[in-house]
Amino acid sequence: MRHLQSINKYFWKYRTRLFLGFLFIILSNYFRILTPQISGYVVDKVEHSISEHTGNKNVQVKDRKAKYNVLVVQFINTIESANTSFGENVILCGITLLVLALLSGFFMFLMRQTIIVMSRHIEFDQKNEVFKHYQKLDTNFYRTHSTGDLMNRITEDVSRVRMFTGPAIMYIINLAATIGFSLYFMFGENWRLTVYVLSPLPILAITIYMVNTIIHKKSEKIQALLSDLTTTAQESYSGIRVIKSFVQEKAMLGFFDKNSEDYKRNAIGLAKVEAIYFPAMALLIGLSNILTIGIGCWYQVHNQYSVTYGTILEFVIYINMLTFPVSAIGWTASMIQRAAASQKRLNQFLQTVPEIKDIHAEGISKLSGDIVFDDITFTYPHTGITALQNFNLTVKEGEKILLLGRTGSGKSTIAQLLLHFYNPSKGKITIGGKDIQTIALQELREQISYVPQDVFLFSDSVEHNISFGLHGDTPHEKVEQAASFASVHKEILGFEKQYETMIGERGVTLSGGQKQRISIARALIKNPEIVVFDDCLSAVDAKTENTIVNNLDKFLHDKTAIIITHRIFSSFRFNKIVVLEDGMISEEGTHETLMGQNGYYAELYRLQLTESAATSNADTIIL
Ligand code: ADP
Ligand code: MG
Repeated sequence: MRHLQSINKYFWKYRTRLFLGFLFIILSNYFRILTPQISGYVVDKVEHSISEHTGNKNVQVKDRKAKYNVLVVQFINTIESANTSFGENVILCGITLLVLALLSGFFMFLMRQTIIVMSRHIEFDQKNEVFKHYQKLDTNFYRTHSTGDLMNRITEDVSRVRMFTGPAIMYIINLAATIGFSLYFMFGENWRLTVYVLSPLPILAITIYMVNTIIHKKSEKIQALLSDLTTTAQESYSGIRVIKSFVQEKAMLGFFDKNSEDYKRNAIGLAKVEAIYFPAMALLIGLSNILTIGIGCWYQVHNQYSVTYGTILEFVIYINMLTFPVSAIGWTASMIQRAAASQKRLNQFLQTVPEIKDIHAEGISKLSGDIVFDDITFTYPHTGITALQNFNLTVKEGEKILLLGRTGSGKSTIAQLLLHFYNPSKGKITIGGKDIQTIALQELREQISYVPQDVFLFSDSVEHNISFGLHGDTPHEKVEQAASFASVHKEILGFEKQYETMIGERGVTLSGGQKQRISIARALIKNPEIVVFDDCLSAVDAKTENTIVNNLDKFLHDKTAIIITHRIFSSFRFNKIVVLEDGMISEEGTHETLMGQNGYYAELYRLQLTESAATSNADTIIL
């Protein structure tokens, strides 16, 4: 329950709606609670008039009137003093009952309009709060939590909390108001009868609570099974090519069948328990009604405790009024339990403090100057893998650096540390002499164009994907220019809708090379000071690679660039080439010095030369 305290701020924010909702519930109940009294009065009137005709004088209409609500007393006095006939009296009471029902219904409508609407506002705010917090959390958080988990919390958990801020709150206030009013009038009217009549209600509440707990547990299980089922289905769709190529359709179907069977069995089990629910409720309510009528009639016949037929009718109506709120107790309780569990899960995330602390910056000042990696050691926090060890590198402004190394040697880690996705375990990175930990994230990341190794494009148009990092409207020419630099412009023009072509699940399927080049265009359009390309030409053929590298030569002439690759761009002049091995620098220098050293670089260079000679030979043969 204490987890739910974090919603109090929202209740305070929407206090006017909450207060009005509270008021409307009270009013709706107030008008409803008057109906049994007027009905009772009418029955008493009928009984009275029958006994007058038969000469029986033992009816205590006057006695009972004093126990009614002031408004009812006023009403009775008015119609009695107006000298109306018995028939007219009954008709007036009928009309009043109708008016009361309408009033009660009207306030019930307003109650939903305030409380349920409030809960939707809270849901909206909470979703935004969670989403905003997600955006602040760092890469490490995303590495340790699955996308499914994040999605579940922002959708499922938030909507469970809404069931608390809306329906549950409404039912609790309603329950309190109905019980309060009915008990007040029932006890005021006849406490003995009240005690007898209400005796089955606690049993009803407990039964319902217990049945609800079972239902709750079963539905949780079903929810989990459903989630499994969806995951299986989802995975078999996205991996359909693998499934088909390994001819595993039957096995997958069998797996799905088994999950489906589990789900069905549990759902049927739940239906059985639910089937007991309403008959059990009807039984106990019926018991209360029998008690009211039985004991009430006994008192009436024996002329005890001023019980009349009117009293009996009133009590029957009260009992039936209490039925719904009392039966909602168990349901409301499980709603609150679920909401508390969900809020606990949400709080876990909301209280996660990002390890990378952003600092406030007054505007963006231009990043320039040298980049220095000063004795950097880095261990990935959740796996304990040390990706870099005592890494030192100085990049002068305007220099172009080539980072080379086998897979897993730590190249991508360098790029991610420079963008401050992680804090180094030891050492520091400075740009223009300033530690990057003292540079605001926006200032840093807006001025470094980073093309990650695993490209990601949004399900949006090509145009929007390229202009993604820019604020406001981007002139189309700029987008085209960036695409030309990345050698993808011509291919985009080949698409039916050109730059308006949709990418991703709802649009065209691009080749790996096209994706890479679009993400290069997205980086170039920012016209940054520093460029970091992480193996982003790996899926591009040698000829296109050459064109892009030549274009980049022009684009990068006044920029600082760190190019990570597993291939050597021989047509590009790098100021420095760094070869990494197991997180440490194994070779460092210019092309000439490294060729002289005859190490990994020289070997790779020669290998690439023979390869390209072989392909050009092959070309000649084919031609
Ligand atoms: P490269 O880019 O040269 O292939 P990386 O920098 O990606 O190398 O990886 C260096 C080492 O760090 C590898 O051993 C890799 O397994 C590990 N590593 C990379 N990324 C992560 C990560 N997010 N979490 C844990 N370990 C990682
Ligand atoms: Mg890498």
